[in-house]
Amino acid sequence: MSLKITEKCINCGACEAECPNKAIYEGSKKWSFSEGTNLKGKFINKLGIKMDVNCLQEPIKYDYYFIVTEKCTECLGFFDEPQCASVCPVNCCILDEKNLESKEDLLKKKNFIHCKKE
Ligand code: SF4
Ligand code: SF4
Repeated sequence: MSLKITEKCINCGACEAECPNKAIYEGSKKWSFSEGTNLKGKFINKLGIKMDVNCLQEPIKYDYYFIVTEKCTECLGFFDEPQCASVCPVNCCILDEKNLESKEDLLKKKNFIHCKKE
């Protein structure tokens, strides 16, 4: 499953640079699917909506850092453990129980967003 950031976040910014997928953004920042990935053209999001990968999306949180579920792979394929959780000083990067994904699903996601054949 992907990770999420809780309201305990103190906005230190330590996690953002560690993410291999650029899935972490500062609160109130717009984000895109293409940033930090090799995605090109159109993308169908988890709601089944087709969108341009370069199109800027509205922030998911405004007061503290957030993780884009569609881009979080638990760092699979890059690191042995979630890097955001490793560096967070207040332990507020936690598993997102609402987004259950198997290791196989996460690896597929990682290969998809970085456009590598499985
Ligand atoms: S677990 Fe890894 S991929 Fe997911 S947000 Fe944290 S650093 Fe990024
Ligand atoms: S490392 Fe933790 S406290 Fe710092 S910005 Fe990231 S989630 Fe927030």
